[in-house]
Amino acid sequence: MSSIPSIPENTPHILVLGMGGTIAGLAPNPKENPLQYQAGQVGVESLVNHIQSAIPGGIKLVSRQLANINSRNLSEPLLTGLGLAVREAINNPAVKGLVITHGTDTIEETGLFLQATCGKLAQTQAKRVILTGAMLPSNAPGADGPSNLLDALRWASTAIENCPGGIYAVMDGRGCMAMDLAKRHATALNAPLQNSPSSSVGLINPSWLSGVKAIQAAWNEDLPIPQEDEWPWVEILTSHAGARPETVAHWLNSNVQGFVVAGSGQGGFHDAWAEPLGRAISQGVAVVRTTRTGAGTTLPNIPEADVPGCRAAGTLTAPRARIGLQLALNAAKQANLAGKPMTWQDFFARIADLPEIR
Ligand code: ASP
Repeated sequence: MSSIPSIPENTPHILVLGMGGTIAGLAPNPKENPLQYQAGQVGVESLVNHIQSAIPGGIKLVSRQLANINSRNLSEPLLTGLGLAVREAINNPAVKGLVITHGTDTIEETGLFLQATCGKLAQTQAKRVILTGAMLPSNAPGADGPSNLLDALRWASTAIENCPGGIYAVMDGRGCMAMDLAKRHATALNAPLQNSPSSSVGLINPSWLSGVKAIQAAWNEDLPIPQEDEWPWVEILTSHAGARPETVAHWLNSNVQGFVVAGSGQGGFHDAWAEPLGRAISQGVAVVRTTRTGAGTTLPNIPEADVPGCRAAGTLTAPRARIGLQLALNAAKQANLAGKPMTWQDFFARIADLPEIR
């Protein structure tokens, strides 16, 4: 662990965890071509040092590099490591808040993962965990990383009355719950929360805040973090014109444990998939259905009766539903080992049926 500057371990501080991403990216020709770059090149300590003079006085920072990757390569073992580090930090009385620098490609998955595994803990310990990233590499003219990081640090460290402890995210001057992040534009500076219910980080919007509180009231218990080698194997299958039954049948002799079907429109999928999906369910594969549109709710038996055993994903997009299903399968396995007869559907419903911020 590296400190900036180095402080005694029990000094109150904000912990900055580095995962990599464009915020830590470098472009060889930043002026001519800022979008051609490598993510995950600069250490988190340098990112923090770069904005040191703008950090409000009195905030002590400690940084820790957990990974320095392009987040399109995010792995499940890295999520395990991140979740355990976040839990440990929340439980550490010296840590007053956390910031996580992360690539935006898969920040959607990490946001849902942290909410489902650490959201209650952050709320009850009154600590804010703020995910942030950037759309431009660190050496691009007008790079957005420094201002995003500064906003995240301010939000992680301001008086708790304004906003409860929880798992949030900041980009382009706006904040949202991390579980509401979803990159829906390839290049726009606000891509990860363009379509997310959010608030200005300067002045928290009361209706957004009451939505946060409704979600927190409904989220009663964090799910277990799977051990590095225990993550269930779940694939996303996208329905499309000309879909073939082989796309599903192909998996039936594998060890796959779940499918998230990203259906068209309201989450319906090509008729060619009904038979092999039914076969998968009868073989014990967990099947969840969502919409490939990227927004809106997927409801049971809409637009037509579900293939028996297939569960609608509610408000979850496909990447979130995949993480949610993995956590639900793992939670059910742990519960069964402890003698509690719970199913993956019991745990999945807790995530998929959370209220939405409108
Ligand atoms: N490909 C980059 C990443 O996810 C994109 C970004 O960070 O904005 O790491």
